[in-house]
Amino acid sequence: MSEQILDTRNRPLRDLRISVTDKCNFRCQYCMPAEIFGPDFEFLPQHKLLSFEEITRLTRIFTSVGVGKIRITGGEPLMRKELPKLIEMIRQVDGVQDIAMTTNGSLLARHAKALKEAGLDRVTVSLDSLDDERFGRMNGRGYHVSDVLKGIEAAAEAGLSIKLNMVVQRGVNDEDILPMARFFREQKHTLRFIEFMDVGNSNGWKLDQVVPSSEIVQRIHEEMPLTPIDPNYFGEVASRYRYVGTDQEIGLISSVTQAFCSTCTRARLSAEGKLYSCLFASVGDDLRAPLREGKSDEEIREQIRTIWGKRDDRYSEVRLNDTPGLNKPDKVEMSHIGG
Ligand code: SAM
Ligand code: SF4
Ligand code: SF4
Repeated sequence: MSEQILDTRNRPLRDLRISVTDKCNFRCQYCMPAEIFGPDFEFLPQHKLLSFEEITRLTRIFTSVGVGKIRITGGEPLMRKELPKLIEMIRQVDGVQDIAMTTNGSLLARHAKALKEAGLDRVTVSLDSLDDERFGRMNGRGYHVSDVLKGIEAAAEAGLSIKLNMVVQRGVNDEDILPMARFFREQKHTLRFIEFMDVGNSNGWKLDQVVPSSEIVQRIHEEMPLTPIDPNYFGEVASRYRYVGTDQEIGLISSVTQAFCSTCTRARLSAEGKLYSCLFASVGDDLRAPLREGKSDEEIREQIRTIWGKRDDRYSEVRLNDTPGLNKPDKVEMSHIGG
């Protein structure tokens, strides 16, 4: 049994999200708007990125303090060259129970088989619409829905377990909720709806663009009856519903209307080696310098213990309490859907 470290709110450190690149081939307006991430935007030079060896060494240190689940993300993780090699290295680390990757899926068809062979367990593919024109506009680069669907197909063929993520924005793609639900129910893949969040400083977040999960569930339930399912484990982010009479389910990630900070066990490592204890943290702690200065595993472990030990983040809960229009008692009524 590895050591467990707890933050100031008694939350253990269990999951590590590793960003392997800050680059992306998409320009989703809600994440990397083209006006800001234009041709002159300076991405990190190669020498500032953590090397595969450095990421693997940190993974080993993190597992020794309780991390069991690894998620590879970005930017677009498949923009990082030789990613399967990294997966293979992480797979060999004792204590790693699960390796997942979040991807926009556009390059997945090419890499799915190698990723599976390297030891990747699961992929979460982001897809916001099945309407080609809208999808092309949302991804900012005119990529086609079929590019992503081919990636999903290849991942299924390779034997990877698959989930879908759809960020829902009112007036942008909320009309895609039902078509997406129907399609992925048919395809037998779990679709998770994500409330549009105010990540970073550049995505022009407005509360009236958030479609509350309760409304999403309601809209689907009217056509395809749903019933709630219990969480799988402590800290599961998505609340889950099953289509009545099937074993197909959907998930709702309600970071805005039903904050889940109290069970948040996730730390994030940026591509340049900064450790963030919250998705909304404005500063991270540099772990690359100690790695490159020759610090020992125990010294770095101690640094991680200190960072986690003083963690007090609960951004989404604070936003929930402080945002007029969110902090009303009727905000999250889903119970009428029945059990
Ligand atoms: N490029 C990969 C992808 O899109 O899947 C991985 C990185 S992306 C930042 C990870 C996830 O965050 C995606 O599912 C994306 O849709 C979601 N995301 C990005 N910005 C968001 C926002 N403002 N609100 C909610 N989800 C967001
Ligand atoms: Fe790229 Fe993913 Fe952000 Fe879209 S959400 S811009 S695909 S990193
Ligand atoms: Fe975790 Fe921060 Fe998100 Fe709350 S706001 S769930 S603490 S990452």
